[in-house]
Amino acid sequence: MFAYSPRPIRSVLVANRGEIAVRVLQTCQRLGLRGLAVYSDADAQAPHVRMADAAARIGTGPARESYLSIPAIIAAAKQLEADAIHPGYGFLSENAAFARACEEAGLIFIGPSPKAVAAMGSKIEAKRIAEAAGVPTVPGYHGDAQDVKTLLGEAKKIGFPVLIKASAGGGGRGMRLVEREADFAASLEAARSEAQSAFGDASVLLEKYIRNPRHLEVQLIGDRCGNLLHLFERDCSVQRNNQKILEEAPAPNLPDLARQRLFDAALKLGRAIGYDSAGTVEFIMEAGDEQPYFLEMNTRLQVEHPVTEAITGIDLVHWQLIAAAGEKLPLTQEQVRIHGHAIEARLTAERADLGFQSVTGRIAHIAGPPALRFDNGIADGSEVGLYYDSMLAKLIAHGRTRESALDKLEAGLRGLTLLGLATNQLFLRDAIRQPLFAEGRATTRFIAQSYPDGWQPAAAELRLLRAAAVAAWVSPAAHQLHPSPNGWANPWLQRAPLRVTAAARPALITALLEDEYGSAEIELHQGRDGAEAVIDGERITLGAVSAAADWLEFAPQATTERLVCRREGAKLLIARQGLAIQAKLVLKSEAPRAQEVDTANGNRITAPLHGLVAQIYVAVGDRVEAGMAVAQMEAMKLVHTLSAPQAGVVASIRHAAGDIVPAGATLIEIDLAVEEETR
Ligand code: ADP
Ligand code: ADP
Ligand code: MG
Repeated sequence: MFAYSPRPIRSVLVANRGEIAVRVLQTCQRLGLRGLAVYSDADAQAPHVRMADAAARIGTGPARESYLSIPAIIAAAKQLEADAIHPGYGFLSENAAFARACEEAGLIFIGPSPKAVAAMGSKIEAKRIAEAAGVPTVPGYHGDAQDVKTLLGEAKKIGFPVLIKASAGGGGRGMRLVEREADFAASLEAARSEAQSAFGDASVLLEKYIRNPRHLEVQLIGDRCGNLLHLFERDCSVQRNNQKILEEAPAPNLPDLARQRLFDAALKLGRAIGYDSAGTVEFIMEAGDEQPYFLEMNTRLQVEHPVTEAITGIDLVHWQLIAAAGEKLPLTQEQVRIHGHAIEARLTAERADLGFQSVTGRIAHIAGPPALRFDNGIADGSEVGLYYDSMLAKLIAHGRTRESALDKLEAGLRGLTLLGLATNQLFLRDAIRQPLFAEGRATTRFIAQSYPDGWQPAAAELRLLRAAAVAAWVSPAAHQLHPSPNGWANPWLQRAPLRVTAAARPALITALLEDEYGSAEIELHQGRDGAEAVIDGERITLGAVSAAADWLEFAPQATTERLVCRREGAKLLIARQGLAIQAKLVLKSEAPRAQEVDTANGNRITAPLHGLVAQIYVAVGDRVEAGMAVAQMEAMKLVHTLSAPQAGVVASIRHAAGDIVPAGATLIEIDLAVEEETR
């Protein structure tokens, strides 16, 4: 297809990893180009490596030693005989020295000229160019001076609150919000040292902090034949830590005037720098206003480019290749049309309930959402470490209307199953139904406004999933295939004829469960007509339950549901409609749950479960009354108080605080006879 090009591209090396490497390689495959991968030691088995026509190792796990190493990547491109290099996003994608190194090595850099990368790589420089081109910018200071005195003076002119930004910043890093003049010097110092260590450049700019803005951006695409078009706008207002998590196109509830201003400003800036590839011009606009202000330009493919692809039908990677090869873009501005509405959700390895803390771990099982574009770079067994970004995948829903795109996205967020690693999946499912987002009125304050006390999974869903976890755990089928590890009691195995699914008589199981969100005590009643659970005093009908090694079928609400679950060591991994847990379970022993009264041998107080003896409240010789607390045990973070069943005198204490004891172990003996005599 590039036969007449002055610089034909037949093979492309993707200098990236994860979902974006997979996505770029997919277009290469579709176009019949040789797709080449690079990988660090941490990614040797990663999906992008497996799908490539050839791959080269470029170093160890830390990005500095691999994905950020220009010499290692150029050497890999030479070794694999690449014609061109696609940088993806992040890593070296906005590094002018890398773009130059590619050209010097005779490789086509699939991106704009090194000059454009350099100009827009500095936020200070970019704002100066934008101003000169007549593009309104966020009010602030982007002069040369970097001394505290000048900057403080400028901050006062701008008026607090002020945002200090690293000129070389990206990915939401290197920003400090300063509310009061008194905090300025300290924040400046912090911003500078963060910028120096993250980007190797301490220079900062100041901006007026906009309280309630929308993040709007315009997709540009240019070629080397002098064409430059916009591919409409995206709204990426929903963010955490100044980083996007939900993005859509077109922007909802956007006045025509604001939209026209966005397109004009983006094209003006693009023309001013002779832009000749895919790039994004970012703006913020106070909610309810009609004047967007330029923020920065990203001279690369953006994470959220798929929403633009969905509504325009254009493969942006293909168009990047066309432009880089020196060909003319296939369509003109007038020929590009919008079809429907698209919304993307970023799936990240983060605990939304803990302030979006990153988590690491191993993906035990992943099954993508049915009928939805799912850009990802993960597979069963993928290790998610701390070396790279927390983003795992993106779900992209496209519909005729925003409502239908929302419905599809919700279905996708319910249908995706990911076990073994905590993600923001349920948060996303919940967030898209919050009124502010559902009605298309979200600003960058969306999370703070929608979840003033932080986000937590809905209690009812958590209870249902926990009940299902217990039902799956006690299923005989599951245990035949995955034998119980030591110390984990499974009464159903010990009593072969008794089956959970076809119980001959009602059965009661009490379990202690601990998962990411806390712990609970669960009673599971198995009857002829189905199962029921009691958690936190709430009764939950599970209906008919059947289970095998890695699935559970039940009918909590009239319709039957099938859940995927995995037993991993001492844990049961299970997910339902976006909520996933890793449950540790302890079944209480089948022995009567109350302490046994054995008048022949004195009265024994036994451990009702396997756990830690936390406290012994009595000493030998102490008098106890019936019902008096004598000891405390802990298991799975739940505390159990043991009390004397009858009055008497403590005859012996068999365990001390700190001991771990099996269920049924005798803790304390009470001499009832002594009691009789003293009465
Ligand atoms: P987008 O604007 O495409 O949505 P983000 O700001 O979310 O991009 O960043 C995309 C990815 O690139 C993230 O993984 C982010 O961590 C990374 N990234 C962006 N800019 C930089 C930078 N200057 N240095 C390092 N990583 C960056
Ligand atoms: P990055 O290079 O990290 O992407 P940006 O300048 O694009 O940095 O800003 C990232 C996000 O930070 C914006 O989308 C917006 O939510 C917030 N932000 C940036 N500048 C301002 C500002 N002046 N006022 C309020 N919020 C801002
Ligand atoms: Mg940005």
